[in-house]
Parts: sequence; structure tokens; C-alpha cells
Amino acid sequence: MKIAVIGGGASGLTAAIYAKRTNPGARVTVFEGNRRVGKKLLSTGNGRCNLSNADISAARYISRDPARLRASLEGRGFDFAREMFRGLGVPLTLEDGRAYPRSMRAASVLDALRFECERLKVETVLEAKINETVHSSKVFRVGAGTFDRVCLACGGKAAPGQGTDGSGFDMARSLGHRVYEPYPALVQLRTEGGERDLKGIRVRAGARAVVRGEAVREETGEVQFTDYGLSGIPIMQLSSVFNGEMEVLLDLFPGEDFGAVVEALLSMSESVGDLALPDFMGGYFPKGITRRVCRGCALDTETPVNRLTVRDIKRFVQTAKALRFNVAGTNSWPDAQTTRGGVALSEVDPLTMESKIVRGLYFAGEILDVCGDCGGYNLHWAWVSGSRAGEAMAAPE
Ligand SMILES: Cc1cc2nc3c(=O)[nH]c(=O)nc-3n(C[C@H](O)[C@H](O)[C@H](O)COP(=O)(O)OP(=O)(O)OC[C@H]3O[C@@H](n4cnc5c(N)ncnc54)[C@H](O)[C@@H]3O)c2cc1C
Repeated sequence: MKIAVIGGGASGLTAAIYAKRTNPGARVTVFEGNRRVGKKLLSTGNGRCNLSNADISAARYISRDPARLRASLEGRGFDFAREMFRGLGVPLTLEDGRAYPRSMRAASVLDALRFECERLKVETVLEAKINETVHSSKVFRVGAGTFDRVCLACGGKAAPGQGTDGSGFDMARSLGHRVYEPYPALVQLRTEGGERDLKGIRVRAGARAVVRGEAVREETGEVQFTDYGLSGIPIMQLSSVFNGEMEVLLDLFPGEDFGAVVEALLSMSESVGDLALPDFMGGYFPKGITRRVCRGCALDTETPVNRLTVRDIKRFVQTAKALRFNVAGTNSWPDAQTTRGGVALSEVDPLTMESKIVRGLYFAGEILDVCGDCGGYNLHWAWVSGSRAGEAMAAPE
């Protein structure tokens, strides 16, 4: 049996390994457009590779088909990733639920996948960008060869500099598959006019995405201000629900009750005399933020704190607990960590990853309409879908 895996990234290498383990007699060839396999893996998790999470569930992913996604994840949660990597000689460690290799080095993860491919005699063809996969008379033509089974594991469109230019979507479409419009996800948000005056400031905040008056998602963590808008992990998480229209409301006192904050500020204000508000608030956040909050509630920043009324303080806290930013868009593909949209799960068997349209065609990884949160969910999906596709496509007929 001849199997072609198109794309030598996280999911493609996994598919190749599981195919060979399932059927050592199968001839498995990985076609990779880059000069080396797994280039993107090296930059994951800031070079540490956050490869799974202790809390895997369909709720941590966006897909138009959560039921099929749930079926794929069933029985392949965190324990599956831990066992898979134990089998590759890579013990995992958890940090706030996020799983990393004990080495904290993405290179060790890629090495383990590469060594296993070598051991199993997976053939790897590098600098082999595939632009077309033709299916006729039960065989697939890929490059100059013909294959019985093909797995499209080309990733999405995020980080195109690492080889993912969306060509997998074109091949999926040409083979008759429905591809939901891909959008950049886990990406920074651009605000109307940008945030030049706050550029460089980082604050811990609650970030709430509001669409047409309704809160659709909330995350807490470090928010960064940039000349174009907002960044940081909570913002990247919110980007997955951006659909052309969104406000972000920042709570600069996350987890703190409105009344308690007002009380605390009132009692402190009694002892600080005539400090201006930006100086008074210096223990909470940088002056630029205080000035922005003052602008939001029409308070004069120069007013000495001991001249502020209780109403003024309440207005200030109210605004600081819901500081408003109009989102104009997201940054583009080069800045995105993943893709929202992709090959419709309704046309793919959730347990085998085989196409319901073309027999012998399989999918794995980001090419599918599955977009995970920050926290190891996207790589976890690559292992789950890659392993399922690999096992199924190598099974003898
Ligand atoms: C900077 C960054 C940091 C990230 N950090 C994390 C993290 O810490 N945790 C996490 O879970 N996720 C992270 N992700 C997301 C994660 O890396 C991806 O979701 C995951 O790699 C997808 O795996 P994949 O195999 O589907 O695609 P990829 O890993 O993108 O691999 C696809 C491969 O296919 C090749 N290819 C594409 N088209 C063709 C073609 N036509 N012919 C031949 N080869 C082709 C590409 O060159 C590439 O090597 C990060 C992403 C980025 C960009």
C-alpha cells in the first residue's frame, strides 16, 4: 500500500508515524514544501512547545460542527498526548494546566517525531511543494507518483512564512470538499485609530468581547497596548470570535468588586493630599491608562485627588471596569497563530478523518475547521487528528 502525507508539520508527521506503526509494510511518503520538516513546531510556545493541555474538551475549540469534533476528541484527551509522547521518549510537564516537554525545548519534540519517522522508515521528500492532488480510478496522483491513500496535512494560512500558504485548502476544494472561509485567529486586534498613546503599556485586565451589546467571551490576563491596538494572550483568545464587529471592554480591576474598589480609593485618597489622579493611581497602573480612563468619564486629570467627589471616584471606577475599545479588525496572517475555518467536518469521518466524498482521502490538523484556544489546544488537535488519520489510512482494506 502506498500512502502520501502532504505536509510535514505536527499533524503530518504524526499521521506518518501512526500509519507505519499500524501497517509496517505500507510505504509512507511525507511531502514537505520547506527545506526541513516541522519548522513551525520550533516556534510554538515561544520555543518551548505548549503541546497539549490537562483540560481537553470540545468547548476549548471553535468549529461549525462541535458534535463531530467531540467525537474525534473522545478518548484522546490529555492522557493520550502524554502516552503518545512517553512512547516517543518525551516526558511532559504541566504549568497551569499547559503541557510542555520536560526539556522545555520545542526542538526536542521535533527531534522525537523525526527520529521516530526515521526509525520506522517513513520516506521524507523535502522542498516538495505539492500544488495538485488528482484522484482518478481509485488512485491519487501526487507529484510524479501514484498513491492508494492521501492525507492532506498542509496546515492553514497562519504564519505563511513557515510554509502554510493555504494551498491545502485549494487541493481540498479541487477534490470536492467544502472549505469554510479561513480567517486569522489567535491574533492581535486592531482598534479604531490605534493606541499610540498607550503603546508599550502592559496591564493585568479582564477582557470582554461584546458583539451588538452582548458579551460573547471573557478572558483575564496581561493585555498589551500597541500602536495598532491590543495584544496579549487574552486578546488573542478574543480574536477567535471576531466576525467583523466587536467592542472590547477592559476591566482594569479584574475580580475586584466595584464597591470594594471605590471604598479602597476613597480611604487612600484621604491621606494623599493634593496628588493628581495619574500620580495617585500609580500603584494600580501606568499614568497613560489613568489619563485614558479620565478621558472616558470626562474627569480632569489635573484635579487633585482630595477635591474629587465620591461621585467622581465612582465614575472613574465604573469606567476603569469597562474601558471601551472599538475593534476595527485583526492583524493579518503573518501574525496569526492559527486559522479559523477550513475543511468542513461534516464531510469527514470524525473517527478516521477519512473524506466522505473521496474514498482514500484523509485530513489532519489545522486544515480542518477546528480552531483551538491558546494553551496547547491546536497542537493537541494535530496529534489527535494525525493519529486517527494515520491509523485508519494504513489499515488493510
Ligand atoms: C508562532 C506560533 C506559535 C504557536 N504556538 C503554539 C503552541 O504553543 N501550542 C499550540 O497548541 N499551538 C501553537 N501554534 C499553532 C500550531 O503550531 C499549529 O496549529 C499546528 O502546527 C498545526 O499543525 P499542522 O500539522 O496542521 O500544520 P503545520 O504545523 O502548519 O504544518 C503544515 C506543514 O505543511 C507544509 N505544507 C503546506 N502546504 C504544503 C504543500 N502544498 N505541499 C507540501 N507541503 C506543504 C508546511 O510547510 C508545513 O510544514 C502556534 C503557531 C504559531 C505560528
